Amino acid sequence: MPIQEFQRIWEQIKYQLQLTLDEDVYNEHFFGISQVFKIVNNSVYLIASNSFIKSKIESFYLNRLNAMLNEYVSEKHLFKIITKDQAAEELARSAAYEINTPEVDLENKYKTGLNNSYTFDNFVVGASNRLAYTSATKVADQPGAVANPLYIFGDVGLGKTHLMQCVGNYVMENDVNKVVLYVKTDQFIEDYAKAAQKKAFDDFSKKYESVDVLLVDDIQFLSGKTQSQLEFFKIFEKLKESNKQIVITSDRKASELFDIMSRLTSRFEWGLSVDINRPNLEHRILILKKKLQAETADPDLIPDEILDYIASIFDNNVRELEGALKRVLFYCTAFDYKFTTSNAEEALKNLVHSKNISNKSIEISNYNTVLDIVSAYYSISSSDLLSKKRQKQYVYPRQVAMYILKDLFDITYKKIGQIFNNRDHSTVIYSIEQIANDIQTDSAKKGDIDKLLIKCGKNV
Ligand code: ADP
Ligand code: MG
Repeated sequence: MPIQEFQRIWEQIKYQLQLTLDEDVYNEHFFGISQVFKIVNNSVYLIASNSFIKSKIESFYLNRLNAMLNEYVSEKHLFKIITKDQAAEELARSAAYEINTPEVDLENKYKTGLNNSYTFDNFVVGASNRLAYTSATKVADQPGAVANPLYIFGDVGLGKTHLMQCVGNYVMENDVNKVVLYVKTDQFIEDYAKAAQKKAFDDFSKKYESVDVLLVDDIQFLSGKTQSQLEFFKIFEKLKESNKQIVITSDRKASELFDIMSRLTSRFEWGLSVDINRPNLEHRILILKKKLQAETADPDLIPDEILDYIASIFDNNVRELEGALKRVLFYCTAFDYKFTTSNAEEALKNLVHSKNISNKSIEISNYNTVLDIVSAYYSISSSDLLSKKRQKQYVYPRQVAMYILKDLFDITYKKIGQIFNNRDHSTVIYSIEQIANDIQTDSAKKGDIDKLLIKCGKNV
C-alpha cells in the first residue's frame, strides 16, 4: 500500500480523534501531527513534536490508534511515534547515504523480512525458554561475537520465530546501518531455484552474503535439497568467516536433522544450541496476560479465572493458546456478552477436544490420590492434611504434599492453595521452598520424598 494511502487513513483517524477527544487533549497531542513520516515493516511512523508528547501518546493512546488503524488495513500495521529530532536526524543520514552510495536502493535496504511486532519486550520468559531468551538477547547485543551460529530448536508454536525475529528487530533498532535479513528456509530454496533458472547467482550470493545478521527459519526444510544445502554452506562459511551473525531455528536438534549433509549440521553445533520447551501453566497465564495487554486498552477486561481456564486447557502450543484468547475476546465483544467462564467455554466449545476434558478429570482424581498417599504415609487423616492445624506432625506432611503436587502436575500455586483450604499462594510458595531446601541439605528426607514421588506416579 503506498504511503499516500496511509496519509489518507491518518487524516480519517485524526478526524475521529477530534470528534471523540476533549478539545485540549486533541490539540495538545494530535493537532500537530499532519504527515505520515514513513512506512517500514508494517510500522507507520508519525512525528510528535517532542519526547514528552511522544511518551504520552505511547502510554495513553497508542492501543486505541492501532485499533483504529487496523480497521482500515487488511494486514496488521502498528503506529510508531518518533520525535521531530529523530526524524530530522534520520533524514540527514539517509540523504548522506544516498549521496555516498547512489546505487543503493533505499527501498531494498528496508526489505528485511522482519515483522516488528516481535520484540523482546513482548516475549514472556519462563523456565521453558529462559536460556534461549538470554542467549538471543546476548547475540542481539553483540552480533557475531558471542554465539555463532545461534541454533534454536523446539516444537511448533513455542516461540522460535518470535525469538529469532526479536534478534533482528533489536539489531535494527540499535543501529540503522546494520543489514538484517530474515528468511524462511523454503523461501531460501525458492530463491535459489529462481537464481539457478536465470543464472543470476551473483545477485543471489550478494543478497545473502552482504548482511550483518542472517536469520534462517525452520532449517529442517533443507532436508533432501542438496543444491540449496551446498549454497547455504557457502553462505554460512562466508558469513562466519567475517563474524557476521547467523541465527537458525529448527524443529529438532542439529544432530537429528534428516537428509542434510553432515558438514552443514556439524557446523550448526559450532556456536550455541538452545531449546524451547512447552511453558508450564503459570507461564502460560503470563503469556495470556501479555497478549491481552497488546489486544486491548483495558488489561483487566478478562478476569483471571478465565485466563486460568484457557491456560489450563491449551497446554502444548502458544499459538493455539493465543488463538483461544482471541476467540474468547471476539466472541464476547461481538455478541456483547460478559466475560464469564461459561461464555468462554461456549466460545471455545469447538476447540476444546473431549480428550482434554477427560484429561482434566483424570488430573483431579490424581490430586486426590496424591493427598491420600501422603496422608497414609505420615499416618494422618486427609482432612488433617488439608486443614489449617499448625502442629508439626501436620505441617511437614502438608508441605510435602504441596511440593509433590507442584512437581507432578501442571498446576499453579494458586490452585494448590485452593486445594488446601484456600490458603494464599505465597504460603504455598514458601512451603514448597522449604521442602526444596530440605532435599538439598538432608539426604534422608530426600530419600523419603523420592519414594513418595514414585508412589504418587512419578516416572523415574
Ligand atoms: P514457532 O516458530 O516456534 O512455531 P512462533 O514464534 O511462531 O512459534 O510462536 C507462535 C505464537 O506464539 C506467536 O504469535 C508468538 O508471538 C507466540 N509466542 C510464543 N512464545 C511466546 C512467548 N514466550 N511470549 C509471548 N508470545 C509467545
Ligand atoms: Mg516458526
